[in-house]
Amino acid sequence: MKNLEKFENLVSSFEKLPGVGKKSALRFAYHVSLVDSFSGLNLAHSIEAAVMSLKRCQKCGFLSENEICDICIDETRENSLLCIVENPKDVLILEKSGIYNGLYFVLDDVNNEIIQKLVNLVSQNSIKEIVFALTPGINSDGIMLYVEDKLSQFNIHFTKIAQGIPTGVSLENIDMISLTKAMQDRMNI
Ligand SMILES: [Zn+2]
Repeated sequence: MKNLEKFENLVSSFEKLPGVGKKSALRFAYHVSLVDSFSGLNLAHSIEAAVMSLKRCQKCGFLSENEICDICIDETRENSLLCIVENPKDVLILEKSGIYNGLYFVLDDVNNEIIQKLVNLVSQNSIKEIVFALTPGINSDGIMLYVEDKLSQFNIHFTKIAQGIPTGVSLENIDMISLTKAMQDRMNI
């Protein structure tokens, strides 16, 4: 329908979001454009503000509104401990759990540029332990070996979160108690 083009564009924008199907997309579009247009405008503004200001921290790869994130500049954190995660979302999950007070590094890709950032972070913070909090699986075993090899010039103790985490299950799908236990019971590798 030509005269509903804007509405249909909105529906298809919602549909592109992860986990949103056609039915939900229609419901959201109807809600923000007709039922509660004030919230709709607020949402539009928040999305624009976040997209314009959010970036990845230059040091660790977490989300930040500045070049360096709040965690990296926080001097009260344990700066000899580094947790390697796959995704900025994993940092949010671990922060919410309150079980960890070290630094992070988001390894969402394994390439020279990212490995160099990791090497810089390690050398600037005199890291003594690296704990891997990756989704268990063959891929993560390979990544751990690769990272260990790339950091072999440093005197670092490598650990990973305990095996309570099932193979192939990412951090966001683990309940807080299991995650806390997995971090507390981390194992040598
Ligand atoms: Zn950071």
